[in-house]
Amino acid sequence: MTLRMAIPNKGRLSERAVELIQKSGLDLGEEWGRRLYVNVRNQDIEVMFVRAQDIPGFVADGAMDLGVTGIDMVAESGQNVDTLTELGFGHCRLSVAVPESSGIKNVGEIAEGCRVATSFPNLTKKFFASKNKKVNIVNVSGAAEIMPYMGMSDVIVDLVSSGSTLKTNRLVAIEDIITSQAVIIGNRNSVKTKKDAVFGIVSSIESVMAAESRKYLMAVIPKKELPNVQRMFPGVAGPTVMNIAGRDDMLAIHVVIDKKEVYDSVNTLKKMGAKGILTLPIDRLVP
Ligand code: AMP
Repeated sequence: MTLRMAIPNKGRLSERAVELIQKSGLDLGEEWGRRLYVNVRNQDIEVMFVRAQDIPGFVADGAMDLGVTGIDMVAESGQNVDTLTELGFGHCRLSVAVPESSGIKNVGEIAEGCRVATSFPNLTKKFFASKNKKVNIVNVSGAAEIMPYMGMSDVIVDLVSSGSTLKTNRLVAIEDIITSQAVIIGNRNSVKTKKDAVFGIVSSIESVMAAESRKYLMAVIPKKELPNVQRMFPGVAGPTVMNIAGRDDMLAIHVVIDKKEVYDSVNTLKKMGAKGILTLPIDRLVP
């Protein structure tokens, strides 16, 4: 049974989504940038390149078994899909923002009946309804930030990442509606009927992400330092320890460490008298 997966064809989520797919071992061939779909080499998997906002609907309908999209897109669509894993990129917030000059500090101060420009009308409606505030939604397909300047809206609801677009347009965020990042979503039926294929892809991508944040460290340490080294790297099972032919005073250790610990670990090992310290990238880490 062919597994069909949808990937955003452009925008902020596209590049990293393709990178994760490729690193997880799915070969998209040479043509993927020019084609709307590709058959993955040597696997019964098809990858389609479509708009991120269409993906929740395609997955809910069963046209696609899996998709990469943003939590914001899934929430706005209101579609029933399973969120299978968070992908740690495309972080942003859907925020209510007002002109700096308005002096408005919170949603309570927004006037009844004001105009709110957004490309997220469903989430915006729900949010203001939950605050018992009547507003008029002005639908835009992008660039909501310009609407107050043009006199077309009083408030906006838009995605904010660094916040620099808001600042440039003299707007200020006063409340977040949701926080978002890229996720893999699955069709509710496919996650059961194509369970092995679905979780094969999901766990492959998770193993790539886990590997990216870690390094493989090898070193030769003085034997007497072994208890200290074991304390330094408790890990799942501590370091792998190996004898070195012809040396009774030294041992070789191999250990997987967090990237953030590399600098301190190498310096501490050096102070202990370690030699031949190597750090290497890891392709995959399957716990
Ligand atoms: P920034 O200036 O970094 O706050 O980015 C704001 C602009 O980028 C807005 O126009 C948003 O619509 C868009 N944006 C920010 N983050 C994302 C995201 N994760 N996915 C899609 N669009 C985003």
